[in-house]
Amino acid sequence: MVIFLTKYKIAVIPGDGIGPEVMEATLYVLNNTNLNLEFIKAEAGLSAWKKYGNPLPQETINTIVNTNACLKGPTQTPPGPGTFRSPTVILRQMLELYANVRPFKSRKGVPSIHNNVDMVIIRENTEGLYTGLEYIIGDAAMAIRIISKRASERIARFAFNFARREGRKKVTIVHKANVLKETCGLFRGICLEISKEYPDVLCEEMLVDTAAMKIAMIPQIFDVIVTTNLFGDILSDEAAGITGGLGLAPSANIGDKYALFEAVHGSAPDIAGKGIANPSAMILSATMMLKYLGEVDVGKRIEAAIDSVIAEGKYTTKDLGGSAGTMDFAKAVVEKLNL
Ligand code: ATP
Repeated sequence: MVIFLTKYKIAVIPGDGIGPEVMEATLYVLNNTNLNLEFIKAEAGLSAWKKYGNPLPQETINTIVNTNACLKGPTQTPPGPGTFRSPTVILRQMLELYANVRPFKSRKGVPSIHNNVDMVIIRENTEGLYTGLEYIIGDAAMAIRIISKRASERIARFAFNFARREGRKKVTIVHKANVLKETCGLFRGICLEISKEYPDVLCEEMLVDTAAMKIAMIPQIFDVIVTTNLFGDILSDEAAGITGGLGLAPSANIGDKYALFEAVHGSAPDIAGKGIANPSAMILSATMMLKYLGEVDVGKRIEAAIDSVIAEGKYTTKDLGGSAGTMDFAKAVVEKLNL
């Protein structure tokens, strides 16, 4: 019997700094699965800006919209005025990748502040304070924070559907509606309204400052968090910090038509080119992509292999207290792949 495997076309953006290294490790793992994956390379970030004068060439956008999903390495955006806007932020808005999904989990063998953490932060990805609407008027700099009914509704629905689909019990709406009465007030009101459609999922609300403290002290109380763009960005780095660091935190940017998967960490210029970056976050982002494509089983098996290599501790990278290189880790993961 001949079995025809579904062919998936994947746009691959290696990015800047450690991006090409962790991407090479990720593609090595993916190439050692039994899936039919075609990788189409595209460029973005500081390296693309230096080469083409454009951090997000049109060709890259064309590649992303003509493939099944995009795997993106970290891209570096220099701070301050006079450079360019983050290509990731532009892509999230342009492709309406409205849901940013970031799971955080305690993993055996990972030195971390807390154990038994298993939470997901779902953040609105297209508006809030990240709209890029910043102005200088007189001697004041200002940024416009947009919270729309439409975007709040779709992210709330996404979060509750996610909780239901993944068998999770609770969604915590995180906001600051006591101070930001109009913007956070609207977000909070809509999330609470949508929650009524999901009586099987527990709903609670929390102020962002309280949430920040509780993530630091008792993160085990959280299941799914839904929040606005900037709050989610900050809370997710905090959640990464208490579960073993940025080298382990994956993410997905999902919209109705397109999806982009990337590690939470940045381009880490301090360790770039040394072959010592932890590729786990990038590989775990690829497992999220496989689950999005419907290849749940292979995604789970790769994650299990990562857990097993980390728990064993023989081939872990420097950030986890080991001395293995990026590719050593990837090779150890492939050795453990039970396909
Ligand atoms: P960017 O400007 O692209 O955001 P950054 O260095 O400011 O880069 P991160 O790249 O997120 O921010 O790095 C923060 C710290 O975490 C750095 O010290 C970096 O070396 C470390 N780090 C980030 N990712 C990894 C990784 N995959 N493996 C090991 N260490 C990492």
